[in-house]
Amino acid sequence: MAVLEVKHLKKSFGTIHAVQDISFSVNASEVFTIIGPNGAGKTTTLEMIEGLVPPDQGKITFGELNWDKHANKIKQKIGVQPQSSALFDLLTPEENLNLFSSFYKKARPTEEILELINLTDHRKNQVKKLSGGQRQRLAIGLAMVSDPEVIFLDEPTSGLDPQARRNIWDIILQLKELDKTTILTTHYMEEAEKLSDSVCIIDQGKIVALDTPSALIEKLTDEREIRLSFLDGLAAAEDANLFSENLPSITRTERLETLLKLWTPNPEDTLYDLFRFTKERNFK
Ligand code: ATP
Repeated sequence: MAVLEVKHLKKSFGTIHAVQDISFSVNASEVFTIIGPNGAGKTTTLEMIEGLVPPDQGKITFGELNWDKHANKIKQKIGVQPQSSALFDLLTPEENLNLFSSFYKKARPTEEILELINLTDHRKNQVKKLSGGQRQRLAIGLAMVSDPEVIFLDEPTSGLDPQARRNIWDIILQLKELDKTTILTTHYMEEAEKLSDSVCIIDQGKIVALDTPSALIEKLTDEREIRLSFLDGLAAAEDANLFSENLPSITRTERLETLLKLWTPNPEDTLYDLFRFTKERNFK
């Protein structure tokens, strides 16, 4: 069952088209990961869904609810991890959690959250004395205070060492066991693979691929892309394109001027045939 549906989201900042046309749906209890390079539009997408940034176009629905008519109801359903810089440095983790709890009518008990984020032993230390990983865990804990159904984590492991990252992964996996839906952004492929039920790869504001990690890996390992750039010019590229189209190992080709792109599940044979051809024709 979809808890969140996003259709044709668009957002520009002046001439920067941060999000160009993004649509996806997220099922209950899944970890849905948005992955992409710097500036791909991950945070902007998340902030539109969280109701922090108004989209230029598109629809966001949480079941029957939308931001125009049901903002208060949506706010009770979702939890957003604050930037770790937004924590109160002079307070302890326990005090930060209690403070956030006081904003809600109903909150998850602080001890339970401290246990889940593995900060029980540090609950009385000032936040400014915590490590980067501990601060990030507290930020995730703050997103859980209202016991939300859907939790948003924007690059929760960014800048952390491998052990601290793994500690965060453990928390995300526990959230899944608690039947929470987690929407996560990351730069790290390994993280997306380990944690996610669905992975949405975005680049330059557009979805490049969206599937389960295993289906994405299968697609990637199934087919390889070969790119050839012809220094002898257009005629050589056209010639090579014709030749490639007739090779049984090639599934499709694409030519952009003198650049030829080929896709094959069998790159060894294809490369052998291609080099034989270019050598015969004396193409560079
Ligand atoms: P990162 O991984 O670096 O956080 P991201 O994938 O989250 O990147 P966004 O932060 O969504 O990417 O940014 C997408 C594009 O929109 C970038 O080119 C960014 O500079 C631009 N951008 C984002 N917010 C604003 C804003 N408030 N004003 C102007 N440009 C913005």
